[in-house]
Amino acid sequence: MTVRAENLVQNWFPSEDGNAGERKELIKLMEQIISGVDDLKDPNRAHLKGEKNRGEDFYKKLTETSQIPMNGQQAELVNEELLKLLHNHPYHTKYFFTNILPMASTPGILGMLTAMLVNGNNLWDVYGPAGAEAEVRVVSMMSKLIGYDPNMSGGYTTWGGQGAIFSGLRLAIAKAAPESLRKGVPQNLYAFCSDAAHYSLFKSMEATGLGTNNLIRIKTNKDHSMDMEDLRCQMERVAQGGGIPVYIVATTGTTDAIAIDDVKGVRETAEAIAEKYDLKVPHIHADSALGGFFAFFNEYDVSENPLQFSVGVLRMLKEIKAKFQHLSLADSMCFDFQKLGQTPYTSSLFLVKNAADLKRLDLEEQETPYVGHRGYGEYHTGYTLECSRMGSSISMLSVLLTFGVEGYQRLLGQFLEVNLAFREALSREIPQAEVVNDDNVGMATLFRIYLDGSPRFQEEISGEATSMEIERNNELNKMLFEKLGEKRDEMFFGDTTKFLLVNSKEGQEFYLSVSKFFVISPYTLPEHIPHIVSYLKDVIASVCGQFENVHA
Ligand SMILES: *Cc1c(COP(=O)(O)O)cnc(C)c1O
Repeated sequence: MTVRAENLVQNWFPSEDGNAGERKELIKLMEQIISGVDDLKDPNRAHLKGEKNRGEDFYKKLTETSQIPMNGQQAELVNEELLKLLHNHPYHTKYFFTNILPMASTPGILGMLTAMLVNGNNLWDVYGPAGAEAEVRVVSMMSKLIGYDPNMSGGYTTWGGQGAIFSGLRLAIAKAAPESLRKGVPQNLYAFCSDAAHYSLFKSMEATGLGTNNLIRIKTNKDHSMDMEDLRCQMERVAQGGGIPVYIVATTGTTDAIAIDDVKGVRETAEAIAEKYDLKVPHIHADSALGGFFAFFNEYDVSENPLQFSVGVLRMLKEIKAKFQHLSLADSMCFDFQKLGQTPYTSSLFLVKNAADLKRLDLEEQETPYVGHRGYGEYHTGYTLECSRMGSSISMLSVLLTFGVEGYQRLLGQFLEVNLAFREALSREIPQAEVVNDDNVGMATLFRIYLDGSPRFQEEISGEATSMEIERNNELNKMLFEKLGEKRDEMFFGDTTKFLLVNSKEGQEFYLSVSKFFVISPYTLPEHIPHIVSYLKDVIASVCGQFENVHA
């Protein structure tokens, strides 16, 4: 066994030759971290153990006291310091239901570890051959899953669903105005998405220089999906005014309600308008960051029901299958593996139906003096916005191989079962609460609470509530956020202040504030729902009491 001298710089690195002694050292340090986290776990809370006082001047103090030490410390001591960062950290126990923040699965972590141990650069297969190989495999697997021709399609791993929306917009601009890559972006290009879409497109409009004024928001239907008639009207309005519609984002699984836009309808509308005004068909991106994983049910036999899902979940699956069969009509899409794919951050996949489209964004040979375009190396991603890229594809591959289609069906099916049990119990047990996304399938329930005698959701959305009443209801619901937020180490709920735009009796517009129950932990099971709902019932009763006192 090799024993290293004390002060070698090499001690900070994994071994060169694979010797057992140094491996043992590395594993010992990893074991210290892993068992340190285990010691902090408490399955009855949504946070790890440990004290952390994030008072008002917490970050200010950190700024003042942080300094690089002149002499480095031993790894064991630094590990202790690292573990302290995790004190009172949110942790994905059965009581964790805030938004779509998943636990990193074990195969996901192992994939990342594999990537890190060789630290390849996924920019070029000469630097990161493992990442390139995994990326090509994952792109092919996911293409086949959603019905793209894998011999035509392409894609790459990138920074989030937002990165995918941004890349889609770059493609849209390059397709509509190829000159713009050199001359800058013309100001008469327009993009479209629904009112319920993620703010990523808003950001992208700003970043590409098109400006957010050129983003047209389309009204939503009662189920929060995009209103096709409004899309048609808005596209016509733009075209008649000399504008060119270049990009439509169809959200297939919105971040809040998990509403699913009609991709086929978007395609038909886009083609009809393009023909009428003699324009190119806009690039259509399915923002399937969240919902794309429902495609794992495409081949699920709902009549045989081999995984024995409940009647309620089967009903959801039928709807999911009907909506996702047209996903491949989009020109590009995204799988946010860091969401329902169960990999660590950052790992999102951008898929394009026609890989040749990416060529429009590629760099010329003379622009890449260090890498690519050599006699050696077959795979160079000069079209990505990033230069160096992590090998997150290895993590994706690891989970896909470990779970398989059936594994994803079981996991996502479990999320659906738990959510249905929650919806039913909430409606039954808590009269003040109302489910406001009853029409949406998925693992999220949005709910809003009301005092006795106040107008409720139905009146709010049909314009029968006054401005004062809606404001008052919003205030009550924000009070619930505060209360749930204070106790989030016990149970961690989500919320949003911008769920749905409604008109008051007076014609004033308001967004509704709602709380969110998002099933994302594999540890939450239907049998936990009675306790969760009873906890919620107590908090809601106390908030309502407090609110009535304040407003008495
Ligand atoms: C989360 C989400 C995004 C943004 O994805 P990031 O991975 O956070 O960048 C975009 N669209 C939808 C529908 C999402 O749910």
